[in-house]
This record gives sequence, structure tokens and C-alpha cells, in this order.
Amino acid sequence: MTDEGPDRLAEPLVGRCLCGSVAITLHGTEKEVDICHCDMCQRWGGTFYAGLVGENVSIDGEECISVYKSSNWAERAFCSKCGSNLWYCFTPTGSRSFLAGLFNVPEGFGIKHQIFVDEKPDWYDLKQECPMKTGPEIIAEAEAMGFTFD
Ligand SMILES: [Zn+2]
Ligand SMILES: [Zn+2]
Repeated sequence: MTDEGPDRLAEPLVGRCLCGSVAITLHGTEKEVDICHCDMCQRWGGTFYAGLVGENVSIDGEECISVYKSSNWAERAFCSKCGSNLWYCFTPTGSRSFLAGLFNVPEGFGIKHQIFVDEKPDWYDLKQECPMKTGPEIIAEAEAMGFTFD
């Protein structure tokens, strides 16, 4: 690890939902996609979750956003007009990641890591040159940081 932190896009990245009611502008976007294969992400989006994180975000169309509390530690937001999923929020920290598919992601992005790989179905595989963690491994990491999942 270095002190430089993640590689970030210099330009803001603008994304929108299917109907265009919600626009999300991410600043300082990390040039890596976060992948989660857990059962809940699959049920929510039809398949794995792919998210982007940035240093700052501004959101237009708040009146069209619905937020669903999917567990005691997470909320998931979607456009109430068109149903596009928008973001996942880990509520203990308030950190959000935004669906990569909302944005025209430029070339050169990689995968930061894949988590809950033990819950991935057999019918797809993503590029494997990235850290891969099982559900029990990621939960143990979070618990070591003081989070509880009940
Ligand atoms: Zn929409
Ligand atoms: Zn998940």
C-alpha cells in the first residue's frame, strides 16, 4: 500500500436513471468498480452489484428517489418513476456507492474487489485478477472494525 490512495478520475462523472428524473454527479470517482455477489444484491438487481465511489456527490431529482432499508446496516435507493437502482448505503458509516451502470464509465476502470464470492452463481464469471473475498471473510473484516450484523 502507498499513501497516494486510489486512482481517481479528474473529471466529474454524470449518471442518470432510465427515465432521466434522477441525475447523479460524482466527483473524484475511484477508477475501480466494487463488485458484490451476495444474495441480496442479486435479488435487488437481477445479478451482481457493481458500484462506484467518489469523494463528493451531488444529486438532482431527490423528489423521485425512494429509499429501501434492506437490512439493519444498509439502505438501497431507486427511482420511484422508472425503478432504476441508484445506490447502496452502508448506514453505520453513511458511505454510498452508486450503480456503475448509471454512468458512461470511461475506459481504464478495473475491479477493486469481488465480495461474497461464495454466493456467486455458476453461470457467470468476471475478471478474476482482483481480490476475492467470501461472505464470512468480509463480515469478519467488518466485525474487526467494530460493526455488528444482527
Ligand atoms: Zn427514473
Ligand atoms: Zn451484496
